[in-house]
Amino acid sequence: MRKIMSVAALLLAVPLLPAPAHAAQAATVVSPKRPLNVRAGSAVWTVPLRTLPHGSPVAIDCWVKGQLINQGSVRVTDQWDRLTDGSYVSDAWIRRSDAPIPACGAAAPVAPAAVAAAAAVTTTAGTVASGGTPLKARTAPAHTAPLIAALPNGTALTLVCQQQGENIAGTQRTTAMWNRLPEGTYVSDAYVRRAATPPPCTAVNQPVAAPAAPATGGEWTSPLPGFRARPGFRTANNPNHIGADIMSFTGTPIHAASAGTVTEVVCNIEAGHSCDQTGSPSIGGCGWYVKVQHSGGIATLYCHMVRKAIVQPGQKVKAGQVIGYVGSSGNSSAPHLHFEVHINAPPTGPQNAIDPIPFMRTHNASIG
Ligand SMILES: [Zn+2]
Repeated sequence: MRKIMSVAALLLAVPLLPAPAHAAQAATVVSPKRPLNVRAGSAVWTVPLRTLPHGSPVAIDCWVKGQLINQGSVRVTDQWDRLTDGSYVSDAWIRRSDAPIPACGAAAPVAPAAVAAAAAVTTTAGTVASGGTPLKARTAPAHTAPLIAALPNGTALTLVCQQQGENIAGTQRTTAMWNRLPEGTYVSDAYVRRAATPPPCTAVNQPVAAPAAPATGGEWTSPLPGFRARPGFRTANNPNHIGADIMSFTGTPIHAASAGTVTEVVCNIEAGHSCDQTGSPSIGGCGWYVKVQHSGGIATLYCHMVRKAIVQPGQKVKAGQVIGYVGSSGNSSAPHLHFEVHINAPPTGPQNAIDPIPFMRTHNASIG
């Protein structure tokens, strides 16, 4: 039921602007294969702001701890460098001198005005007030943008900032403003009850252009037709459970929930154990699993298979195609499918997991 995977601890950076007074350190991007993404935060699932080609000069103000990047060209590190405009790059792709860079928290004396500006960069609490119908979270501030999640009435929201988009008449107000949520999706402010108005999305916390998001649509289907998931996403008892469990029988075919490309076929289990044996709640790991990348930055994960999946990494699969069979490998007490849905993938991690039950319901493939 529980899944243990190597997921980097992360601390999303809060931009502290304006830049501190010390001199920025000159450095160089080393990314020969493709341009380096400059992001709004210290993890690859934060909003990309622009790219820098191989050899580009950068000016580093300070560093923060963030997502571990282990495929960089220079080093393996969880350090992210904050550039002078408040954006971030992984230090894994940066060649620089050995001169120490200050940690952003310990940055040089900050003027009182800067402290006030920094204090203003906070999130705002809100609540979905749709009156019944779930509020749609989309990839851009318009009802035509691809749908990512449907948030039930009463859902607590963290509002990062507001951006102008399509005008919507809702229960709370008629407005063209949309709220950006931490995972980078947007909800119309017309249906959000809130005490304060979130700040406008700035150059740092806003994409340069609306994401050119491919549709997440296409057909979706239950990975285990005829079986029902039980609610269990991030419960009070199990806050690290980031999927839905669908109880079933050993050998039941597991279907790809939508068309995509298989990106991982892995045995994920605590050292000293085998995925080819029935697991137990005392063993860590999600056993034999498959990860499929779909369009629109959606990825799905299928854990605890009885044996290695029948698909290969790199293989294209159709919606409903059989990819493996139900089992109880890894951290599992009975045959079931642990099913995860991630947005803004790759990568996949706790940070971008969403509750599969409402997601699948929204996509006409209810599992609950
Ligand atoms: Zn589970």
